[in-house]
Amino acid sequence: MNLLIICLFLGIGIFLVIQAFSFSSRRKKKKQKAKKAAASAAQKQYPDGVKPGCCPICGTPLVKPERVQSVVFEGGNEREGRLCHINGCVHCLSADSVKKRLCPVCRKEIPKTGHLVAMMFLRSDKSHHVHILGCTECHRKR
Ligand SMILES: [Zn+2]
Ligand SMILES: [Zn+2]
Repeated sequence: MNLLIICLFLGIGIFLVIQAFSFSSRRKKKKQKAKKAAASAAQKQYPDGVKPGCCPICGTPLVKPERVQSVVFEGGNEREGRLCHINGCVHCLSADSVKKRLCPVCRKEIPKTGHLVAMMFLRSDKSHHVHILGCTECHRKR
């Protein structure tokens, strides 16, 4: 029983230290954040408004293990482009997500059951280039 109480206090102690630390560093961070925001605004953006490294549907910047869920279809070839469907990322696909899923082409909301239709090209430097054609709402009607 005594051990439990000590553990509890220890937990609170650690929590307080973390709180105090984050509070003191928050002031510094504010300045850094403003700088970072300016830097990311100046960052390269594709003509369709999709930023590299971000989910093309909700615009969330993705960190390493997170990937955009997409399906690449067979057929076509890598130079002429392969049809691919982009479903979204973990942030906008999860059931309790509040992220708006917007189509970069028509700017309308895409339902969770919908997806983006895109062409994927392989560039000569082996990097992938994805050209978004539209979503299940606007591309279908064309
Ligand atoms: Zn997303
Ligand atoms: Zn659309």
